[in-house]
Amino acid sequence: MQRAQQPHIVVVGAGAFGGWTALYLRRQGARVTLVDAWGPGNSRASSGGETRVIRATYGDRLVYTRMAARALALWKENEKRWQRQLYHGIGVLWLVESDEQYEKAALPILRSENVRIEELSGSDVSRRYPQINCDRVRWAIFEPDGGYLTARRACATVLEGFLAEGGEYRQLAVQPPAPSGGQLSNVLLTDGSRLTADRFVFACGPWLGSLFPDVIGDRVRATRQEVFFFGTPPGDQRFTESAMPVWADHGTAFMYGIPGNEWRGFKVADDTRGPVIDPTTESRVPSPEALKAARDYIAYRFPDLKGAPVLEARVCQYEESPDEHFIIDRHPAAENAWIVGGGSGHGFKHGPAVGELVARLVLSGAAAPPDAQFRLSRFAR
Ligand SMILES: Cc1cc2nc3c(=O)[nH]c(=O)nc-3n(C[C@H](O)[C@H](O)[C@H](O)COP(=O)(O)OP(=O)(O)OC[C@H]3O[C@@H](n4cnc5c(N)ncnc54)[C@H](O)[C@@H]3O)c2cc1C
Repeated sequence: MQRAQQPHIVVVGAGAFGGWTALYLRRQGARVTLVDAWGPGNSRASSGGETRVIRATYGDRLVYTRMAARALALWKENEKRWQRQLYHGIGVLWLVESDEQYEKAALPILRSENVRIEELSGSDVSRRYPQINCDRVRWAIFEPDGGYLTARRACATVLEGFLAEGGEYRQLAVQPPAPSGGQLSNVLLTDGSRLTADRFVFACGPWLGSLFPDVIGDRVRATRQEVFFFGTPPGDQRFTESAMPVWADHGTAFMYGIPGNEWRGFKVADDTRGPVIDPTTESRVPSPEALKAARDYIAYRFPDLKGAPVLEARVCQYEESPDEHFIIDRHPAAENAWIVGGGSGHGFKHGPAVGELVARLVLSGAAAPPDAQFRLSRFAR
């Protein structure tokens, strides 16, 4: 595309959604300026921190099983292009005790979408992974192509790739935009300058509600989520990625974790939504209640880690939509502005697939995304 014909697109937010969107817009020939207040995968962002799970098991939500499969292909393709490992395919193990609805609903979808899986009995799991207490595990799904992604490193790598392919990046905050006459012509930045563009994408994670109080407001709520990294016994490999996969555990709470990697600790997190916070001002000190819940959980599921010391902890936030579906749609008062977010605790893995989709929608002049569940109009019902 000739430079004069290139549309200029501003992408606000360099997290998992905005970074990949900027990259794919650039690859499809647009002139792209990516803007972020604190930087890709920063310590306040939902994409910050060390690792995220990648899995295709999604209960009955076919759209995300498909999207996860596309995203995995794109993660692999980009890793190869950049010669940088971001995806670690150590597998994901779904442990089923009493409530099996989620996993049962996922099975036919995983099969019809040709996702590789193994169905294991509780005793199979216990034989394979004696470090896991399987006393009450009735059965399990093992996804060999699942695993984890390095989170903040991936965001930084996407920015590097974007810059290398001719993108422009500015570290400034954008003020709440003010469309007029059905269009948005520019945004005001914190240095007092204005950035003019043909089209805009706002991928501001948990800040979307404050940027668009009328259109988004509390349809994206930032919920406090705490993550703990426990220390394993000296020289003991049983709790590292060399000996076990990522696991997901639907018990009384949905707990999950990632075994030790890069010589860091054994990660444990509770998927239960925490209190609503302000992602800008929240202090990131973990709470004694969440630590106790994590300790009680590992003592039950991984008895040899009972009493293990905490090596690190992180307080992050989900950017939660009411139905946990993503939001990918045009701003109702600005046909050249798109809003992308609502990752709701599961968005990271989908970053490249979301970026590819949004770039296609923005450049093709599509009226709305093909999937109705991503549209803003669903909230009006
Ligand atoms: C603890 C935790 C565990 C998770 N686990 C998983 C998992 O295992 N697997 C998975 O797939 N997903 C997981 N998620 C969810 C996933 O990480 C998020 O859905 C995803 O990272 C959201 O990306 P985003 O780009 O929408 O938001 P963000 O990463 O928050 O990016 C938004 C960016 O916008 C910038 N910004 C905001 N306002 C402005 C402004 N006014 N001007 C300029 N810039 C601005 C911010 O600085 C930020 O960098 C988890 C999330 C958390 C918190």
